[in-house]
Amino acid sequence: PVLKPLLEVSGLKVAYGAVEALKGVDLAVGKGQIVTLLGANGAGKSSTLNALVGLAGKKAGRVSFNGRDVSGLAPEQIVRLGMTLTPEGRRIFPSLTVDEHLLLGGAMHKARGAISEVREDMLSRFPILKERLTQKAGSLSGGEQQMLAIARSMMSSPDLLLLDEPSLGLAPQVVDLIFDLIAGLRQKGLTILLVEQNVSLSLEIADAGYVMANGRVVLSGTAAELRNSTEIQGAYLGA
Ligand code: ATP
Repeated sequence: PVLKPLLEVSGLKVAYGAVEALKGVDLAVGKGQIVTLLGANGAGKSSTLNALVGLAGKKAGRVSFNGRDVSGLAPEQIVRLGMTLTPEGRRIFPSLTVDEHLLLGGAMHKARGAISEVREDMLSRFPILKERLTQKAGSLSGGEQQMLAIARSMMSSPDLLLLDEPSLGLAPQVVDLIFDLIAGLRQKGLTILLVEQNVSLSLEIADAGYVMANGRVVLSGTAAELRNSTEIQGAYLGA
């Protein structure tokens, strides 16, 4: 039986002035799944994630989250409903401490009472952040900043996490660590929509994927189907 998706997107269009970045994107993410969005630079992956949380110039389309139409809502309303974005480039504030970042993430909490519990959970999942709680975020390594960006997003207790390029600029061992952490979050019931340049790694961790080109979805399937597809192997897996 096919479960009703947690996220259903249909006919999503985004434009920046005259640039049509998304020309009608349809996709779905099942509860508890990791779904990956693949495609070349400029294909529209970041625009898709940004539009889902109300941060891009959405022109048309329907976004249904948890059975509710969230198309016209503001970013803070969408976060409160349980969909949160960890943006590309991490968007860390160098002069704020690690703990201040977590508190900022928690300020959007759906059920404010539980902030300290969520913080404890994050500090046990990301022990390096616990060691560096009072340190300014600008002094963290790239991998630590990425962990902080994810932990900050998780402070809003999302049901769906949108992750934009978590491996960007990180050394392979650090990338493996981040992917282990992502897998651990999914095990706890989190649903994840993942944008990644590292196609082989994201198809390893994902249940399903969509390939975008020029603002449209051009291919989709289970992760196994995509791994075996000649298009994917030719374009991304160096076969
Ligand atoms: P990348 O991996 O390079 O971020 P992407 O697949 O995420 O690529 P988008 O960033 O969504 O792609 O970009 C889609 C298209 O929209 C590209 O042509 C890009 O140049 C354009 N674009 C993105 N953001 C803006 C903006 N703020 N203003 C104008 N054009 C934009």
